[in-house]
Amino acid sequence: MLKRGYILPPEHLYPPDEWRIVETRYSDEYVARAETVFSLGNGFLGVRGTFEEGRPAVLPGTYVNGFHETWPIVHAEEAHALARVGQTLVNVPDSTIFKLYVDDEPLFLATARVREYRRVLDMRAGTLIREFGALASGKHVRVRSCRLVSFEHRHLLAMTYEVTMLDHAAPVAISSLVVNRQDTRPVDEIPERRPSDPRLARVLPERVLTAQVTEQADSRILLGYRTTNSRMTLAVGVDHVIDTGCPYQVEGSVEQDGGEILITADAAPGVPIRITKFATYQGSRSIPAAELVDRGRRTLDRALRAGFDTLLQQQRQQLGQFWDRADVRVEGRVDQVRRQQGIRWNLFQVAQASWRAENAGISAKGLTGHAYDGHYFWDTEIYVLPFLSYTQPRIAANLLRHRHSMLDRARERAAVMSQRGALFPWRTLSGEEASANFQAGTAQYHINADIAYAIRRYTNVLGDLDLMCEVGAEILVETARLWEDLGFYGADGKFHIHGVTGPDEYTTVVNDNTYTNLMARLNLSYAASTVRLLREERPDAYTVLAHEVGLRPHEADLWERAAAAMHVPWDPDKGIHPQDDTFLKREVWDLANTPLEKFPLLLHFHPLVIYRHQVIKQADIVLAMFLLGNEFSREQKRRNYEYYDPLTTGDSSLSACVQSILAAEIGNERQALQYFNYALLMDLADIAGNTSNGVHIASAAGVWSSLVYGFGGVRDFDGNLSFEPALPRPWKSLSFSLRFCKRQIRVHLGHEAEHYLVDEGEPLEITVRGERYLLTPDTPITVQPVSRPRHHEVVTAVEG
Ligand code: BGC
Repeated sequence: MLKRGYILPPEHLYPPDEWRIVETRYSDEYVARAETVFSLGNGFLGVRGTFEEGRPAVLPGTYVNGFHETWPIVHAEEAHALARVGQTLVNVPDSTIFKLYVDDEPLFLATARVREYRRVLDMRAGTLIREFGALASGKHVRVRSCRLVSFEHRHLLAMTYEVTMLDHAAPVAISSLVVNRQDTRPVDEIPERRPSDPRLARVLPERVLTAQVTEQADSRILLGYRTTNSRMTLAVGVDHVIDTGCPYQVEGSVEQDGGEILITADAAPGVPIRITKFATYQGSRSIPAAELVDRGRRTLDRALRAGFDTLLQQQRQQLGQFWDRADVRVEGRVDQVRRQQGIRWNLFQVAQASWRAENAGISAKGLTGHAYDGHYFWDTEIYVLPFLSYTQPRIAANLLRHRHSMLDRARERAAVMSQRGALFPWRTLSGEEASANFQAGTAQYHINADIAYAIRRYTNVLGDLDLMCEVGAEILVETARLWEDLGFYGADGKFHIHGVTGPDEYTTVVNDNTYTNLMARLNLSYAASTVRLLREERPDAYTVLAHEVGLRPHEADLWERAAAAMHVPWDPDKGIHPQDDTFLKREVWDLANTPLEKFPLLLHFHPLVIYRHQVIKQADIVLAMFLLGNEFSREQKRRNYEYYDPLTTGDSSLSACVQSILAAEIGNERQALQYFNYALLMDLADIAGNTSNGVHIASAAGVWSSLVYGFGGVRDFDGNLSFEPALPRPWKSLSFSLRFCKRQIRVHLGHEAEHYLVDEGEPLEITVRGERYLLTPDTPITVQPVSRPRHHEVVTAVEG
């Protein structure tokens, strides 16, 4: 059910443009939201879209993936094995600032008389450019800046800042800063901070970063830090190239909270002063800060040698690679350009969150904000990895390797939780469980099966066992062990899993959550079949695995037995799957009469009030029906969807994309489009009202899933690629690409004809609406779509 409507952003904010997000007018009102929308990142480093002049800034942020501080979680009432170590992504020193003074008067957008303002996020170039003219101390000045976070050089941010006096000479001072404001930001300065909003980041009360190195020479500043508790180390360095025909001077200074390179020039009219600033960030858990500073020095030397123009070219080239595989194009009658822009912005966000995440995960907000403390959740495996597995498997593999790096801590966690095997943390940065709210956090054991599911999908899409041998099988074994130990055989002979929370966080600590049981079943049987497969096909890898995990003979039989006996809740009267064994007995929440301002419910009702009702935060059974669609009949899908959809608030942004996929599958085109648009505009139209806190990355990746799985009807059960397209009637066509088993597949779906092509790699068999086709390289297969049974509702042009 769609509770919230949305209003498209005003035209001056992001006028339709297929490849760019353009802001054509400066407006105080949208500063915070735009800081998120114009964020840049490369999966290692992220900077929010704050203005170079440093003001106005609502939530400035610079993040290094995984770089965090820890703090003791204090529970008012103690209990065994509660999470004890809080982890918060650190807002590291900001190097994007250039304060501008004309005639020794500071120039800020909020107060200057600004004209011809434009800020452009170019999603092919990977740059953020801003230009404006202003009257500064009665003289016209033009300012142009450009920044990029390099996809090619993971530690590098590069910026240019160019000032031109237009009609009068003036003394101009540009103060290029590095500012550590993480330690100095009082809570009440943060407007979005509502005391009871659990989604926001903790404001760390004490000093986090202690300077270990402070160096400045010429136009270079190097800073080394260590965090107080986590003992992580960080290096930040900047260097500058100054290019101008005006006479100028440079002075520098540094202190523990940052440094300044001050350029003062006698600007002549029409002669630009252009400063190129390279900034580097390095972070580590163990390496001394001084050594990181040395690395930073090398990165800066390399950047200076390459120069800004080369970085621009490399950026474009890397993004070219991304778009070649990732782009999804929709042609339609209405809103064609705006929709295309939204699709690309969302996909671009996933690239920005992941491209260089070589030994880290993906935070719920990517590197665009530190809400949720910057934690990694199941969002990565269930929402982001499908897109990456099918388009950028290199990144998907790295993310799974990173999960594997948490395995030892997951083993310890299982032991502390009185279980065998491994239990992955519900939310974490370090690998340790950081969820203080065990009902809606730790109890989400399904994270184990979500990870196993992602390994399976990656393996099927890649079509080889390399990553499985490297890291996957070990995870499968340990997660299967946990399920087998956690569940039990009831008097009915069935295998039950009690005391867990499924994806829906509005219903917690329940018995036999259907999603969890079904996903655990797959985890158990897949672990068993994988172990057997490796024994046959990769005996060496099998021997290593068996040794590493101490595999006992017949252990796989136990997993299979539990899988075969798994209890799957079913209500014969309603003909639906109950979400868990008591869900259907609860009172139904009266959503129709709940005022809009009471959403999200989590901010307005005590958890117990929510838990005792039939009311759903996000797709749960509906998600199971997508992930395990071959285990449900079409009729079950329809009935389940129709039962659960009206109970679903969508208070989590993870819901809409999944609801769209299922609606498309059951032929409810109207809702499929509505939910798709909702996910598409989640941040661009600020649907949840909290875009300022960062991009909803799971939803952004979910846009791809809605398009490809939903309207494209792609499924990959059992390693076969099949298509059951459901192209909406208001759309003319949908085109996308898939990487599958070392082939590059291009798909173009229209109402008159569908084209499927292998344009790289060996021939491949695919299934389209139940028919098998052999795709051979360079010869597209054309299929005539047949009309599908449609849901009774009628589509209106609005959804086009
Ligand atoms: C959702 C979780 C999700 C988390 C981070 C919560 O609101 O309920 O499923 O993992 O946000 O995105």
